[in-house]
Amino acid sequence: MKKLIPFVFTLCLVFACGELLPNPDEHPENITRENPEGNGQSKPEFAIIIHGGAGTILKKNMTPENEAAYKAKLEEAIRVGYNVLKNGGSSLDAVTKTINVMEDSPLFNAGKGAVFTNAETNELDASIMDGKTLNAGASAGTTTVRNPIDLARAVMDKSKHVMLSGKGAEIFAEEQGLTIVEPEYFYTERRLESLKRVKEREAKTAGKVDNESAYIDFYDADIKNAKFGTVGCAALDKNGNLAAGTSTGGMTNKRYGRVGDAPIIGSGTYANNATCAVSSTGWGEYFIRAQVAHDISALMDYKGISLKEASKIVLDKVADLGGDGGIVAVDKNGNMVAEFNTAGMYRATMNDKGKLTIGIYEK
Ligand code: ASP
Repeated sequence: MKKLIPFVFTLCLVFACGELLPNPDEHPENITRENPEGNGQSKPEFAIIIHGGAGTILKKNMTPENEAAYKAKLEEAIRVGYNVLKNGGSSLDAVTKTINVMEDSPLFNAGKGAVFTNAETNELDASIMDGKTLNAGASAGTTTVRNPIDLARAVMDKSKHVMLSGKGAEIFAEEQGLTIVEPEYFYTERRLESLKRVKEREAKTAGKVDNESAYIDFYDADIKNAKFGTVGCAALDKNGNLAAGTSTGGMTNKRYGRVGDAPIIGSGTYANNATCAVSSTGWGEYFIRAQVAHDISALMDYKGISLKEASKIVLDKVADLGGDGGIVAVDKNGNMVAEFNTAGMYRATMNDKGKLTIGIYEK
């Protein structure tokens, strides 16, 4: 019996320690994270992911020249952000500078190349968020600011507000010394053609459907695709700070000062160092209603699920409502996710090893 006492005591001690020791699954910060490719390496020092819009992007509709042009621009853009991060710069700077490249390209529906409103104007929206401070800035409906993401950034850094719109936002942009252009700067033949086609289709279907949502089902693939093309970026820097930003011309044929999800913090953009940074693209009305970007972060926060799982759940919710689109995101451990429920999404990633991936179609 005497011999049994120390044995039972040791056994109890082992069980007690088991209870007290943290379970790595309940304390994710205690376990070493895999990198996005899951090849067993430890948490990356930094990471960056971008999108150039989701939509009915099908290989059969794409010329090799077009495909090459999109890939080249995606690579050029992401390399700018990668270099910022590699040199120890902030995720906010990486996001801003990467988006600038896509805004200056007519390939994407942001900055130069923005889609046309019903009144044949270009009205641009953008937003940015800092995951460290939860500071955010956004602008909506501007017509003269060359790089709306710079305006969103200035709203965040240099004003007391989170969102400015229209004329007031343009006055603020001028005061801040941002580059101002004539509204015609945003004109592109291709986007005007898209507007004409959408209007022709609208005229043909007039009276047959009673709301925009039903009407959009009448679009052919080209037209539906022409409605999208927003750009966005999410990044993690060497200091562990997350940031995300989104910039867009909105949706072709939009009316009455319509504002989509892109400048709405929590819908188009969200970043929080506790969870992830997200940029959305797609049918904005649904992304606003589903609060896509914040919901992904909230699911991770409240339920402790992965970025990938959370993104799927939220995009399914968008689909259930009748909308479509996608997101790019990076979590605090550098895991990157590009998720979409459309036929394609222009996208690219780079990790701290300089590994580049570029995607356009579903597979
Ligand atoms: N989400 C944008 C909007 O609804 C459009 C897009 O992503 O291309 O304004």
